[in-house]
Amino acid sequence: MITFEQVSVQYHESAEPALHGVDLTIPEGELCLLVGPSGAGKSTLLGTVSGLVPHFTGGVLHGRVTVNGRDTRTHRPRELADVVGTVGQDPLAHFVTDTVEDELAYGMESLGLAPDVMRRRVEETLDLLGLAELRGRALTALSGGQQQRVAIGSVLTTHPKVLVLDEPTSALDPGAAEEVLAVLQRLVHDLGTTVLMAEHRLERVVQYADQVLLLPGRGQTPVLGEAAEVMAH
Ligand code: ADP
Ligand code: ADP
Repeated sequence: MITFEQVSVQYHESAEPALHGVDLTIPEGELCLLVGPSGAGKSTLLGTVSGLVPHFTGGVLHGRVTVNGRDTRTHRPRELADVVGTVGQDPLAHFVTDTVEDELAYGMESLGLAPDVMRRRVEETLDLLGLAELRGRALTALSGGQQQRVAIGSVLTTHPKVLVLDEPTSALDPGAAEEVLAVLQRLVHDLGTTVLMAEHRLERVVQYADQVLLLPGRGQTPVLGEAAEVMAH
């Protein structure tokens, strides 16, 4: 569960807050789609969940954001690694190893798990994401959809309760995007993971969403509801 209590974020460069008065609860085990025009504060909101705001991107955070009870302001992103995992738009920019298998293992490196637990989690994740046959493959030799599945996999090996994704399909063709969305839907249904995903191509993803969180514009009050209900808004 993710809770926002009176959350505002102010960047130094601007007088107006990027987020203002966000007060809501995102329920557990659902796929919540975050939508809104460019500049409305989607990345900022995701950052308050992953801990990037205020620890890495600047911005002054008022109010409180908790993920499974942990305050994202008082915990460093590294201390949140077992609770919340983050995936960006461009997997290649974030890969740190060369092969599928190594990349999945790398995700767990800071957790101090025993080697046999790490091996088991790599196997389980390869199966879950349909990557077993690509295990030894160079990351640069994969399709965009496969690369994004590896990026998701390297986060999943930490068994996060919450997965945060910032436009994970924006660089993908429609087929590859569907591949990724189907994987996310499976995580929600099979593992009870909470998925919070920003996306601007609404028509592509809305059918996969349980809830939609609409940020109407910079500093404006967000609207959260069942997908159909918010879309009628
Ligand atoms: P979205 O993801 O919906 O496009 P953002 O959260 O990226 O919105 O941005 C919201 C507003 O905050 C924008 O006006 C943007 O210019 C500003 N902003 C975002 N990140 C920073 C930053 N690191 N420093 C200063 N201003 C920022
Ligand atoms: P280990 O620490 O040996 O991996 P766990 O008990 O932590 O053992 O995890 C094994 C169980 O976790 C399996 O039943 C598997 O279904 C489940 N699991 C797999 N992937 C995830 C995930 N991303 N988040 C939560 N649970 C997961």
